[in-house]
Amino acid sequence: MRFETIIGLEVHIELSTSTKLFCACSTAYGAPPNTQCCPVCTGMPGALPVLNRKAVEYAVKMGLATNCEISEFSRFDRKNYFYPDLPKGYQITQRYRPICTGGYLGVESEGCLRKIGISRIQLEEDAGKLIHNEAEKVSLIDYNRSGIPLIEIVTGPDIRSAHEAVEFLESLRLIALYTGISDCKMQEGSLRCDVNISVKPAASGSEYGTRIEIKNLNSLKAVRNAIEYESERLKVLLSSGGCIIAETRRWDDSNNVSEPIRSKEDVQDYQYFPDPDLPGVYIDRGWVEEIRSGLPELPQTKRRRYIEEMGLSEQDARLLTSEPYRAYFFETCVEECGKPKAACNWVTGPLTRLLKDKNLSFSAPGISPAYLAGLIGMVDKEIISYTIAVNVLSEMLDTGLDAGSIVEKLGLRQIADEDMLTEIVDRVLYENQDSVRDYRSGKTKAFTFLMGQAMKASKGKAKPELLKTIMERRLDQL
Ligand SMILES: [Zn+2]
Repeated sequence: MRFETIIGLEVHIELSTSTKLFCACSTAYGAPPNTQCCPVCTGMPGALPVLNRKAVEYAVKMGLATNCEISEFSRFDRKNYFYPDLPKGYQITQRYRPICTGGYLGVESEGCLRKIGISRIQLEEDAGKLIHNEAEKVSLIDYNRSGIPLIEIVTGPDIRSAHEAVEFLESLRLIALYTGISDCKMQEGSLRCDVNISVKPAASGSEYGTRIEIKNLNSLKAVRNAIEYESERLKVLLSSGGCIIAETRRWDDSNNVSEPIRSKEDVQDYQYFPDPDLPGVYIDRGWVEEIRSGLPELPQTKRRRYIEEMGLSEQDARLLTSEPYRAYFFETCVEECGKPKAACNWVTGPLTRLLKDKNLSFSAPGISPAYLAGLIGMVDKEIISYTIAVNVLSEMLDTGLDAGSIVEKLGLRQIADEDMLTEIVDRVLYENQDSVRDYRSGKTKAFTFLMGQAMKASKGKAKPELLKTIMERRLDQL
């Protein structure tokens, strides 16, 4: 029997505003517990929330980048429930009038672009954090996170595989990074995701199967594994004539299994109602257009431009755009040197590797893109060889100097002087007469060895083609 998997996502992205959604408390990550809270975000009686304009702007940015309608009027609602990390006894969210609706995002799947619908984006506040100390058998509460702005992005039931879900999340993550609305650090909980999944026989038309919800996945790997596991579990259940119960499950990352938390039978009634402390939000069309015109080139458009205008491969374009600062470094370097393919190879190859080795990053690489362009120019003009250039780049990152200064300082200029190279070759041939005999008896390996010795004698600076020509000539003359 063939089955179809239907997936919808609810993605939470923490916005990187400097203050919380309804108060002036700092949102900086990692502060000592309960040092970034006030009467508003700890729900003291009589405290009144005031909406953070920046959070609204960020939500609008995400809406525009995902082709949504931006609501002229939106409103906040109270979602009522008790939990120790929620001191007010309700969460402020947008149930009835979300800020953005009806968008989509294209994701690449099996060589074609599939539209994944976004039914809504809502603004809401995060809850505090419970810390369970097993050893001392106590639970502690940190309210620093309480009231940090989130957007929740809800997709339609349009996703069909773990691959598509991960592609969608990766696209969202990149949009958030490029627009600067979130740092999307999954390990710090800035991006997390709930998965709704159901399985139905492929021939059963448009009727969906019973839905399972998997809560709080906080890595792309967990999303992929959880979907693959759950979809398989449901298929096996259906094939064996079993019955699927609607339920909420959690994903156990270390054992790679999902397990039930609660059945959907006891679905909570949150008694949503409009928050009387917060007036409705009217969003001026002029402001929306202003935000739209300030959006950067989005990652997908950038990728297409790299492929179509610069002639790069899909894989190269993906690597370059996988972080905004890397794309910026690459583009500025291309502007300076005019060689997209060479710049791409240097940026994705030696530069990425060296930055990692030296604990640096593209956001603060220590050299300007123009310096890399200068280095590429020197290789191109055969002033230095590629191998030497990689060492020069390492030196550049250590010192902050440009390529030219380092080449001069360390005397690395390539040797293209025929007399000098002939002298080196002759000395090598004289010192390695066994290899010369081997070469003459037809062992080609001996030639490679002699070339290696000569290159070493030149400290790697000999111009390779010229050295080879001279080596061949001298061997013939012997
Ligand atoms: Zn506060």
